[in-house]
Amino acid sequence: MIIDFKSDTVTKPSPAMLEAMMKAQVGDDVFGEDPSINELESRAASLFGMEASVFCPSGTMTNQVAIKCHTQPGDEVICDESAHIYQYEGGGIAFNSGASVKLLQGDRGRITARQVKEAINPDDPHRAHTSLVCVENTSNRGGGSCYDFEEIKKIKAVCLENKLPFHLDGARIWNALVAKNETPKQYGEVFDTISICLSKSLGCPVGSLLLGKKDLIKKARRVRKVFGGGMRQAGFLAAAGIYALENNINRLADDHAHAKQIAEAIVKKSFVKMVLPVETNIIIFELNDSLSAPALVARLKEYDIIGYAIAPNRVRLVVHLDITKEMVGKTIETISAL
Ligand SMILES: *Cc1c(COP(=O)(O)O)cnc(C)c1O
Repeated sequence: MIIDFKSDTVTKPSPAMLEAMMKAQVGDDVFGEDPSINELESRAASLFGMEASVFCPSGTMTNQVAIKCHTQPGDEVICDESAHIYQYEGGGIAFNSGASVKLLQGDRGRITARQVKEAINPDDPHRAHTSLVCVENTSNRGGGSCYDFEEIKKIKAVCLENKLPFHLDGARIWNALVAKNETPKQYGEVFDTISICLSKSLGCPVGSLLLGKKDLIKKARRVRKVFGGGMRQAGFLAAAGIYALENNINRLADDHAHAKQIAEAIVKKSFVKMVLPVETNIIIFELNDSLSAPALVARLKEYDIIGYAIAPNRVRLVVHLDITKEMVGKTIETISAL
């Protein structure tokens, strides 16, 4: 039994999800003729109270399409220094949009309204034109940390004052919604665009959606095509998404409970310096000098437990749909005995 905590992207579709996929009605989506994709797009948009959405092959694409829609070359995007859009999208902000970034030092990936306000460039020909503010919830590098929604509203107020669009990288928004008992509509009211992922927390093989106003999503469809993301009979994938929206959101509370239980075992170890607060499904911990992260990951692998060294002294474990209660038990036993 391999217990894979490498990422919440490693899940495989369940038999019930596969059955829903096999039964999907499909058509050519570039012509707008795939009924399953059309249904997924309208369901996702209405869940968040937004006008429209567009299905994309990855979260990287939904973020990059959004950034392209909101910026012009030479513009500046405000985000946290650990943001996925900056750290893990291959330099796409510069490559795809010709834009640069203003990086803020947030608290475990979360930035404040005050920081955003101070980061907006004045209207001066020497300076880059600030044109977009992005936040990530939950924050990946922040160890699955969740924003306080009040702060998000304050950032929105700064955006409105300065006529700046506000984008949410919601790859793990589902985890935040469940952990903080929030609703998708709260988010739909505040953000101009939201990127949501079906393949991380919700167990789909592929798929993300970008949500926004009708006009913006029309533009996003054109950008998606330019980026090579116009898919044809992808309704089989959309059917997995519909299944996931119906079945796999509420169960995230189990993942969060499992992550907390594992973290309790980790924090007791003498080789552990500190564990980031566990708010959702991600555990990030730092090791003392006596043990490197790759060495611990190798040690765990001997017991078929797969972790990820995200820095020379930091390990990340991500709990997900395919991690059973039994696996959590075995992991806690193994770590306790190390
Ligand atoms: C995984 C992730 C994405 C998108 O990743 P893809 O692998 O391209 O789907 C975007 N933002 C965050 C915070 C992520 O963790």
